[in-house]
Amino acid sequence: MATIAIVNHERCVGCELCTRACGVTHAIELDLQRNWVEVSEELCWACGACERMCPFNAIALPFWAEPNKELRDSIYAKNRKPKKSRVVAQVSDDTAEEEEEEVLAGQSN
Ligand code: SF4
Ligand code: SF4
Repeated sequence: MATIAIVNHERCVGCELCTRACGVTHAIELDLQRNWVEVSEELCWACGACERMCPFNAIALPFWAEPNKELRDSIYAKNRKPKKSRVVAQVSDDTAEEEEEEVLAGQSN
């Protein structure tokens, strides 16, 4: 059996922070109906990056597994920063539109 990250479904709140950490292999997927994540046995590299990211201690490698620390730290460092979300992008677009309307209104005065 492959060594993969294990999810404690009693603790997982489905926040998907771990999916961001696992941005290289995309081994973690949210189960929308249950609101928890699952780890793909085929895709998990057992790097441990998700374990570092989860604020609820809900995902971890088995205690006997030795994570690939170099891989884990490089993946964690690369994916820990929040990406620009669609909501933020939408708000920015709205703000730009409002500013444009104000400029046009100023020109007509
Ligand atoms: S970061 Fe933790 S709580 Fe959030 S979805 Fe992943 S395992 Fe669940
Ligand atoms: S151990 Fe690494 S590859 Fe496996 S689910 Fe976690 S972040 Fe993804």
